[in-house]
Amino acid sequence: MNEIVRVEKLTKRYGDLIAVDGLSFEVREGEIFGFLGPNGAGKTTTLNIITTLADFDQGRVTIAGYDLVRDAREIKALIGLVPQEIAVYRELTAQENVSFFASLYGLKGRELKDAVGDALAFVGLADAAKKRAGKMSGGMLRRLNIACGIAHQPKLIVMDEPTVGVDARSRDHIMSSIRVLRERGATIIYTSHYMPEVQDIADRIAIIDKGRLVAVGTENELLEYVTDFRTIELDVAGKDGEALRASAAALGAMPGVRRAVYAEEAGMIRVDVDLNISDITPVLRPILESGIRVSGVRTEAPDLETTFLALTGGALNEEVVL
Ligand code: ATP
Repeated sequence: MNEIVRVEKLTKRYGDLIAVDGLSFEVREGEIFGFLGPNGAGKTTTLNIITTLADFDQGRVTIAGYDLVRDAREIKALIGLVPQEIAVYRELTAQENVSFFASLYGLKGRELKDAVGDALAFVGLADAAKKRAGKMSGGMLRRLNIACGIAHQPKLIVMDEPTVGVDARSRDHIMSSIRVLRERGATIIYTSHYMPEVQDIADRIAIIDKGRLVAVGTENELLEYVTDFRTIELDVAGKDGEALRASAAALGAMPGVRRAVYAEEAGMIRVDVDLNISDITPVLRPILESGIRVSGVRTEAPDLETTFLALTGGALNEEVVL
């Protein structure tokens, strides 16, 4: 897959503060790229630079082969920004708002009318086209904010926390519409503090902290940064402690098994297996064949929350909803 965004050694300072510190990453064409990091990590600053709203001190950014500094005009036409703060005119109707933003990209006449109709239908606001923004609920405003950012059919859509403050129905609508945008060929950069959301929607995730890239990859690749095994817990009975300990020892010697111990007080055998082992039947078979009764099986895979905490050194705050 080709990359559509390439950020190389990007640095941005505010006085003594280095908000973005030598950041490099790539976004591939057609993917949903999750941008995750604690408050103040430099996410909004980076997105503002990519969308030409803010300048930078060092580094290079190219979008679809265009240089951010030299070809800012071409780049602006390729990008749709859905900002964190809702940026619509409250006194205008939904239709007038979308029309205004789309016209900034040069759309006119029939083309403009069609684009506005499509964008409103897409976010589920076709019936509210004539409703004033000032009269809309939070969820409707969020959806209108999205319509304004996508009506000109940008190749790259940058969304900065697009679901903040919306109800579950609007959130679901927004999430599924983002997938549709991707199916239509757009690339999406998606920022959120809400980890399950990023986990659910992103093909690849970049974790940034203090202006630096901590890790980038698919969810599984990120998990492998911090751990490469998962734990299976078996509630066991029907044999004495000696036999259970011996079984655990035998299990520990099997291929793909890191460690197996019998935890007498909990009445369970705890087995750590390699993350790439998806079929645990061979692990269970010797236990079952030896006459041990298994009354419960749980597997515990490390999740993204654990990974995030490990990678950012636990630099979370209240705003991160895990
Ligand atoms: P949040 O999710 O809270 O928006 P973020 O990851 O988007 O966090 P940024 O908003 O990019 O982080 O901020 C990165 C750092 O730069 C922070 O320490 C912030 O205080 C600082 N900063 C951002 N904008 C400015 C500015 N205009 N002037 C001075 N400092 C700024």
